[in-house]
Amino acid sequence: MNRDGNCKSLWQSHAPDYFAANGWDQGQIYDVLIVGGGITGMTTALLLQQAGMKCIIAEAQNIGFGTTGGTTAHLNTFMDTPYHNIAANFGKEPAQLVARGAKEAIAFIKEQVTKNKVQGFSERPGYIFSANDKEDEALEKLMAAANEVGALMQYTDALPVALPHTKVIVTESQAQFHPGKYLYALAENYEQAGGILLQHCRVGSVTYENESTFKAEANLGSILATKVIYATHIPPGVNLLHFRCAPYRSYAIACTLKSGNYPDAMIYDMQDPYHYYRTQETDGKTYFIAGGEDHKTGQEENTDACFRRLEAYVRTYFDVDEIAYQWSSQYFEPADGLPYIGRLPGSDDNIYVATGYGGNGMIYGTLSAIILTDIITKGKSVYKELFDPNRVKPIAGFSNFVKEGADVVKHLAGSIFSAEKLPSLLDLAPGEARIVTYEGHQLAIYKDEHHRLHMISPACTHIKCSVAWNSAEKTWDCPCHGSRFSYDGEMWTGPASRNLDRFNDDPV
Ligand SMILES: Cc1cc2nc3c(=O)[nH]c(=O)nc-3n(C[C@H](O)[C@H](O)[C@H](O)COP(=O)(O)OP(=O)(O)OC[C@H]3O[C@@H](n4cnc5c(N)ncnc54)[C@H](O)[C@@H]3O)c2cc1C
Repeated sequence: MNRDGNCKSLWQSHAPDYFAANGWDQGQIYDVLIVGGGITGMTTALLLQQAGMKCIIAEAQNIGFGTTGGTTAHLNTFMDTPYHNIAANFGKEPAQLVARGAKEAIAFIKEQVTKNKVQGFSERPGYIFSANDKEDEALEKLMAAANEVGALMQYTDALPVALPHTKVIVTESQAQFHPGKYLYALAENYEQAGGILLQHCRVGSVTYENESTFKAEANLGSILATKVIYATHIPPGVNLLHFRCAPYRSYAIACTLKSGNYPDAMIYDMQDPYHYYRTQETDGKTYFIAGGEDHKTGQEENTDACFRRLEAYVRTYFDVDEIAYQWSSQYFEPADGLPYIGRLPGSDDNIYVATGYGGNGMIYGTLSAIILTDIITKGKSVYKELFDPNRVKPIAGFSNFVKEGADVVKHLAGSIFSAEKLPSLLDLAPGEARIVTYEGHQLAIYKDEHHRLHMISPACTHIKCSVAWNSAEKTWDCPCHGSRFSYDGEMWTGPASRNLDRFNDDPV
């Protein structure tokens, strides 16, 4: 399994990497085209296919290529947006509905792993702990609100790891799993149910073929369908949702511990950004996974340093033997705290989207599948209104919206670069990259291991924000809406829909 970055995640080495596109008929009008083969697309396609719809998935690379291949796969009933914030922004009943949805998603995943004998799933308690007065207060509030909506938590005296703490709460019935193995089990089920899975199939424009049929142009050919679902983590093109979702990067390491004393629990601190920990057994080996160091995409100049900070932090409290894997990945933070699941704003009734999951996309990706299947097959879902992408929540989302909007303006190409001279490029070490202005042109330049310069335009092909270098993953990342490109400009993550413009590649 390949992933949208240079670093390898724990999940990549454990899965077959090929599914045949058995039975694809270019003349056929499919009921639903699902664009994207992460947890959202795969689960949605499986449910719709099992409900009797004729589905086709088009995945630009391979399934799991996006954030699903770079997740840490905790399954929580408490969310990144605390229940008291959800209740304040949306009301108490909607907050209860979110808690209900989280439980429903975990139950769904458990059912799938049981039915398909997928290894790597286990139910574990979750511990959240504070370490100072301010965090104590926030923890108390978090627990009170969670208990009100039925995501039960209680104080405990024991934290199963030696991290400094003042108060600890525990919540039962959390879970964890192996997202690679899970995704491949879903894909097998989907194909057995007659679904078509096209890998290495990037969807470009989607237009009307006639009144009731869409025609999606893809590199493998045209796909006809009566409904389209963008399960692309963020929709392509320029959409209202790009101004309601902000891209963030998060870091993870999987290591072995000298003591062999791996916690049988999932653990979270209350720092901002927070650290999270868990244990995963896979293929006869045990790993301790730690995550954190989140930042807004493109706003950390030295992404390698994020790994070093995370590692140093973990080594302070755990007897790390070997760092076996380290990886980072991107998520999208919604402006008002809840994801956007339903009809794509500004589009036809038959085009759907699921995005803005924050760090809860295993839960929300699964719940999106349940919701979209209900909307498409029954015309209704109990969650439809709450997660409606067209909802208007000006007060709840206002501060984030203004902040993210300001970031967009700041990063528009042409407004932020200091002038540098081309000779300074010769100072680049192999593996380094820089943005320079040369004779009025802005160039994003990467020097590879063979000293070749790869020169591309830094103007993101989405709406011309300037990309920033991600040294750890060796990608150009757009700080505005999260589009990501390889070092030589190949488009890996939308919403952009084409490669960065290339200049000549010159050996030096
Ligand atoms: C480091 C990290 C840790 C996380 N940990 C957790 C966790 O513990 N628990 C949790 O619940 N959530 C977690 N999340 C969030 C969760 O991983 C994501 O929200 C989730 O994986 C998103 O899944 P997805 O299927 O929507 O998108 P993706 O997995 O990104 O899949 C989208 C797919 O669409 C494809 N695509 C894009 N454009 C096109 C196109 N034009 N044509 C065809 N295909 C296209 C891409 O190639 C990609 O494979 C974490 C996120 C990060 C970054």
